[in-house]
Amino acid sequence: MTKSTVNQSKNFFELNFDQLKIFFKEDIGLEQKKISMRATQLWQSIYKKGLKNINDLSTLPKELRDELNRFINIKKPQIIKKQKSDDGTIKWLIKLFDNNEVECVFIPEKTRGTLCISSQVGCTLNCRFCHTGTQRLVKNLNFSEIIDQVMIAKEELNDWQEQKKITNIVLMGMGEPFYNYDNVKTAVDILKNKDGLNYGTKKITVSTAGIADKIALAAKEIGTYLALSLHAPTDEIRELIMPINKKFKIKDLIEQCKTYAKITKEKITLEYVMLRGINDSEICAKLLIKIMAQFPCKVNLIEFNPWPGVNYLPTERKEMEKFSEIIQKAGYISTIRRSRGQDILGACGQLRTESLRKKIN
Ligand code: SAH
Repeated sequence: MTKSTVNQSKNFFELNFDQLKIFFKEDIGLEQKKISMRATQLWQSIYKKGLKNINDLSTLPKELRDELNRFINIKKPQIIKKQKSDDGTIKWLIKLFDNNEVECVFIPEKTRGTLCISSQVGCTLNCRFCHTGTQRLVKNLNFSEIIDQVMIAKEELNDWQEQKKITNIVLMGMGEPFYNYDNVKTAVDILKNKDGLNYGTKKITVSTAGIADKIALAAKEIGTYLALSLHAPTDEIRELIMPINKKFKIKDLIEQCKTYAKITKEKITLEYVMLRGINDSEICAKLLIKIMAQFPCKVNLIEFNPWPGVNYLPTERKEMEKFSEIIQKAGYISTIRRSRGQDILGACGQLRTESLRKKIN
């Protein structure tokens, strides 16, 4: 648990629903038959209506509100920097209670609004084209710190109406979600909870660099859309740009994706960042088709977003379209993801904070 105690009180967001019920029983001493109702009331008021002050929860008896004020707080970490891109994308830099920093990004579109959240501070993967990869792993986020990002964004956007402004949530920010599996799972449970943030499984996407031994489990336990950062059609190329491929080969990923698609009955999204002269040839497109033939999927071609000091160049738009057409002609869905928020380093793979791993001693 993160240290966020104020006068020994617990932080609401550090409790999942079962833990909240235990809190009502053990810390508040509420009689058993009222626990579920009171926990649900508090849960709904905070997650659905954005309650910030327990005194405003007038459906609770005054004595209970007083007790809650003593034993629980609904504090969230602070935003320390907010940047708005010319295209409307907003990036928030958040200072966690332990002073580490994490970023999340809101990407508004005509018909939807996507919030991109982080699962770790820093990352262990070191993908050569990714800015986060230049920051060492600082820590796994607690599930509360994953949910905090959503709550902070909702508050900033005043998103408490029936018609949500944040319609979709993607775990595509900093970090590898499957290397922080348990916290991601709990956070997704809270996102999905009908009395909580109430996002359908089809409104949430978890993106992985391909931690093969977690994919089948995630299909059963997390069950959201899955995006796989494939980025190359052969092990040879993939290994050059993604060191994780030394551990999990494309063949393993294909097997796991078959299982995932079978369990969730949904297509997998293959993410493919286009790097000039590295993975964008016609041969690569044809090899990619061979992979796509093996399980239900579509490909999302991603414009490479440069960052200071990187050694790759983006594939030209015309070439991306050619690549996309080859895939479409073979009968598969291929889309090109427009880059958003580049001017504020808020686009895919551009997130990086100054947090450093604390030296032990
Ligand atoms: N670790 C997870 C999620 C984080 S990255 C994963 O690898 O999927 C989200 C997506 O952005 C991934 O597909 C990642 O490969 C891609 N990405 C990373 N750096 C990028 C860059 N500079 N330009 C475009 N996309 C990038």
